[in-house]
Amino acid sequence: MRRIVVVGGSIAALTAAESLRAEGFDGQVTVLSEEPHQPYSRVPLSKGVLAGREPAESALLPAPGEDIEFRTGARAVRLDARGRTVALADGAEVPYDGLVVATGARARRLTGGADLVVRTLDDAEALASRLATARSAIVLGGGFLGMEVATTCRALGLEVTVVDLVPPLLRLLGPWLADLAVEAARDHGIRVRVAPDGVTMVGEHRVRCGESVLEADVIVCAVGDVPNTEWLRDSGLPLDAGGGLIADACCRVAPGVVAAGDVVSRQGRRTPHWTNAVEQGRAAAVGLLRGASARPYRPDPYFWTEQSGLDIKISGELPLTGAPDILAGSVSDRSVLLQWHHDGGTATAVAVNHRLPVIKLKRLGAGVPAPAPARA
Ligand SMILES: Cc1cc2nc3c(=O)[nH]c(=O)nc-3n(C[C@H](O)[C@H](O)[C@H](O)COP(=O)(O)OP(=O)(O)OC[C@H]3O[C@@H](n4cnc5c(N)ncnc54)[C@H](O)[C@@H]3O)c2cc1C
Repeated sequence: MRRIVVVGGSIAALTAAESLRAEGFDGQVTVLSEEPHQPYSRVPLSKGVLAGREPAESALLPAPGEDIEFRTGARAVRLDARGRTVALADGAEVPYDGLVVATGARARRLTGGADLVVRTLDDAEALASRLATARSAIVLGGGFLGMEVATTCRALGLEVTVVDLVPPLLRLLGPWLADLAVEAARDHGIRVRVAPDGVTMVGEHRVRCGESVLEADVIVCAVGDVPNTEWLRDSGLPLDAGGGLIADACCRVAPGVVAAGDVVSRQGRRTPHWTNAVEQGRAAAVGLLRGASARPYRPDPYFWTEQSGLDIKISGELPLTGAPDILAGSVSDRSVLLQWHHDGGTATAVAVNHRLPVIKLKRLGAGVPAPAPARA
């Protein structure tokens, strides 16, 4: 292989590109990113950057090495997998011997495009400037992102209502942990509303929930994401019903093509978390260079969220059923280390406002028994 092209401009793409070098690939590595910016992390966009506590520059990722060509404003619009070329929006054709697809996902929108979302740096800056003069906000969607945005709006002094379709909010967590987080949100002054019949946006400032209409200065949509695979539609690469790109255990999609990050569908689901994008970016590079002899990738189920005064770190599969073992701390203090055991011997470990090195949390999440408390 002489030239590897990576399509995508964020953490999975960057990690894959750097990993190709770390694995000894000495041909050309070209990263094609549609965004005008240098690569950055999305994680602070709903937190410190949106709140104005951290400058936008703090989200920038370390620049790629000089032996990696990183092109901004390069949007892939078509893939010819047989001819091994990527067509760009400006008409250019970029040939490759190996391809990494890391085009991630974009925010799902409820209207044609006017709704405010938080996916890109530009989104976060646009929303931050609207929040600066707003007194109230409605956040549509009570998942991790929606609750983080609601927390930030609250910290800025806005009245905030989160609207979701079905209780409990944060249902991905399972009822026990979701209850803890929603109670913390209410204590933070965030109103929570369930709209089982759906939500319709009525203009810029109003939403209809069943019979009633809610109004706010700003309405933010946090209703999920959509994988960026439209450019692959005619390529013959396998897409699932939700548009996710189907990859095998070694991140391979087709001969000479691997994929990593939020765009990937594996065993019928995507894993849209930072750590997975990093680990899968590495695994995809190895999968491209070593083929079937690469070690199969096991998704890293570690992620974190910061909301309503809770710093929640999770290692293990979701959702969580039943009540957990309490390994340390106390639930009433909202500072606690928890472990759920699943059928088949697996486990999920959760630290809520509890300091524990990630490696130890991951060990608990892998089902390794917690050490017995030291005797006095
Ligand atoms: C606001 C926010 C907060 C988050 N907070 C957390 C958190 O606290 N913890 C956590 O674990 N995870 C968090 N995440 C999730 C995490 O950021 C994602 O899992 C991660 O960004 C995925 O990386 P990726 O490189 O796969 O995809 P993306 O970050 O989506 O990047 C894909 C890149 O590809 C580019 N691209 C798309 N289509 C094309 C094309 N056709 N041609 C060229 N380039 C293209 C896009 O512009 C983008 O730059 C958060 C996400 C958001 C949006």
